[in-house]
Amino acid sequence: MRPPDAPDAHGALGALGALAKVCGDVRPGEPEEGVLGVEPAVVAAPATVGEAAAVMRVAAEHALTVVPRGGETRLDWGTPPRGCDLIVDTRRLDRLVEHAAGDLVATAQAGMPLERLGEELAGNGQRLALDVPIPGSTIGGTIATGAAGPLRTLYGTPRNLVIGLTIVRADGQVAKSGGKVVKNVAGYDLGRLFCGSYGTLGLIVEATFRLHPVPAAHAYVTRPVDGPEEAHEAIQAVLHSPVVPSGIEYLSPGTVAVLLDGGPDEVGARAEQTVGLLGDTAQISEGAPDGWGRYPGGTVLFDVAAPPPALRDLLTALRESAGPGTSVTWSGDGHGYVGLSSGDVAGILADVRAALARHKGSAVVRYAPQDVRGAVDVWGPVPALSLMRGVKDQFDPGHRLSPGRFAGGI
Ligand SMILES: Cc1cc2nc3c(=O)[nH]c(=O)nc-3n(C[C@H](O)[C@H](O)[C@H](O)COP(=O)(O)OP(=O)(O)OC[C@H]3O[C@@H](n4cnc5c(N)ncnc54)[C@H](O)[C@@H]3O)c2cc1C
Repeated sequence: MRPPDAPDAHGALGALGALAKVCGDVRPGEPEEGVLGVEPAVVAAPATVGEAAAVMRVAAEHALTVVPRGGETRLDWGTPPRGCDLIVDTRRLDRLVEHAAGDLVATAQAGMPLERLGEELAGNGQRLALDVPIPGSTIGGTIATGAAGPLRTLYGTPRNLVIGLTIVRADGQVAKSGGKVVKNVAGYDLGRLFCGSYGTLGLIVEATFRLHPVPAAHAYVTRPVDGPEEAHEAIQAVLHSPVVPSGIEYLSPGTVAVLLDGGPDEVGARAEQTVGLLGDTAQISEGAPDGWGRYPGGTVLFDVAAPPPALRDLLTALRESAGPGTSVTWSGDGHGYVGLSSGDVAGILADVRAALARHKGSAVVRYAPQDVRGAVDVWGPVPALSLMRGVKDQFDPGHRLSPGRFAGGI
């Protein structure tokens, strides 16, 4: 259901003139720009925070439903929005605002691709320790989806690395928290709240990050594993040792891979120590093993999360429910993906959820063909949904921002 005050596509097009007065790049949407089939009436690409705020203000005045768009790498993940009168494309908001190298802190605009941020920071020997989820991913999209790859084991996810955020609220007000301007918005830590908010709470326009030095050296240690028990034991051995991996991954059909980074001498020593932990079949290499940092293949993707020991039960459940060939990746900190190409998705999902529930874990369907999506509970049980609804009501009382893209129809 569309939000009650939302205009029809014709009415949204009527706002085009008002939007063009406040933003230099406004045009009617194209059918192929649809977000999971929901076609935008208008696309606006603000080039400054001021323009972005003015666009959001006009959208509020015309009661437009708004979907933010970054690099469009995965707009087709998740659930379709209930309305999409206006896409706000952030790709012209692509500047590095400040790199305070001495403080290991940088502020960049939301539409900047992560790769370019990486190149700019590398000039000073620093990096944002987040894997680029997919080439072209922007800072805003990565924060909005909480996306993180194998480096999450040591450095965490956007939640841990974002120290300040500037957003434009549904009413067009600019709000900041953390970073250099320490001003709380109604007591909220915006950085944490907006990580994984899928564009439902506001438009992210700038982010300040904690940085790390680019490591001088790195090494991968890989070892084949045969079955859930071996995979579990290998990961636990490394996690409970002093080698401090930057990433540790289980990669189907049967590999445990460990990334170590730091100074050249100590990386070599830690790699040898890791081989000692993993046994004679472990090997050291400079290049990443196949599948490292990639999503598993398939037409259906589950995003799974649970404490690290849940891997054993997850792999056992998948072997019994989906067969031995299922494509899985799992990071040592307890987050992974399951890719399926066929089979009884609803049954497999139920089995996976039952296995993870024993560890208080969860499984969410990130993408699936429409008929499958319609037949399963995409989100599963979501704790604290009423709290989330309260936050949504405060940030977006008209329910116009990416309506329906979050759990519980938020
Ligand atoms: C629903 C969903 C869940 C995802 N979950 C994961 C995950 O768990 N792990 C993972 O590694 N990858 C995940 N991805 C993929 C990952 O988000 C993308 O690869 C990439 O990081 C997104 O960057 P992008 O610039 O291409 O954003 P897009 O693909 O353009 O947009 C992705 C989402 O972010 C929102 N968004 C984009 N920019 C802004 C902004 N400035 N302000 C507010 N919202 C914005 C969009 O409305 C959309 O919901 C997910 C994607 C989606 C859509």
